[in-house]
Amino acid sequence: ETLIEVRDIGKRYGNVIALSGVTTSVHAGEVTCVLGDNGAGKSTFIKILAGAHPHSDGELVVDGEPRHFTSPRDAQALGIATVYQDLAVVPLMPVWRNFFLGQEPTKGWGPLRRLDRETMKRTTSTELAAMGIDLRDVDQPIGTLSGGERQCVAIARAVYFGARVLILDEPTAALGVKQSGVVLKYIARARERGLGVVFITHNPHHAYPVGDRFMLLRRGRSMGDFPKSDLTLDE
Ligand code: ADP
Ligand code: ADP
Repeated sequence: ETLIEVRDIGKRYGNVIALSGVTTSVHAGEVTCVLGDNGAGKSTFIKILAGAHPHSDGELVVDGEPRHFTSPRDAQALGIATVYQDLAVVPLMPVWRNFFLGQEPTKGWGPLRRLDRETMKRTTSTELAAMGIDLRDVDQPIGTLSGGERQCVAIARAVYFGARVLILDEPTAALGVKQSGVVLKYIARARERGLGVVFITHNPHHAYPVGDRFMLLRRGRSMGDFPKSDLTLDE
């Protein structure tokens, strides 16, 4: 199932061409990797998919319909969730509160009522366990978790709240080998659950094992979009 088609997309900031001629696609149960060095246009590409910056040229097709996102809400409404590198978490708040942050119905929602705290805690534990995240205590402040664990919580949260497409901005960049391995495992798990994943990274060694499709960016231009079977990785 094709979730997103990116057709010859470009982005200009005034006279600066940040991105041009970018074509790729995102499929349910697959990981599309976007690879490039600094300044290649990765952040710009994320912003277009996330609805933060509208594209200037080309076509963005989601669920078969051409779209022009003008705000992150437009992307969210279609189940596109973005996990940024600097995660929007409140370090001193418990893991379970962060899990539900911004998602709790408040007063005035008619028949909707707020989940009680035990339900939220239980749900958080269950959902994290389902993604293979073994946390002894969802009451601990999220700031006490490692960077890798926080990434995993953010991914599990997006999955629980109905994301169909996950956009991951350098989820392994700030992590050591072991933590990166943990995050890569969760990316594979999100894929198994049928999500379409866009994995943005400068590191081909991280992308190759989990990727199904690879789009290479260089100085704002696409160097091509390849299925894994077309590529090998030199050690
Ligand atoms: P990456 O994330 O791969 O490092 P970026 O998407 O941040 O790349 O940048 C791609 C190009 O677009 C760079 O040349 C950068 O200077 C330019 N660029 C990015 N954002 C802006 C902006 N808001 N205004 C002007 N130029 C920008
Ligand atoms: P927004 O506030 O909507 O996210 P901005 O255009 O203010 O968008 O900046 C987005 C990102 O692009 C920021 O991280 C900023 O540092 C970067 N940026 C802005 N202008 C440039 C530029 N000329 N070259 C490279 N990066 C830029």
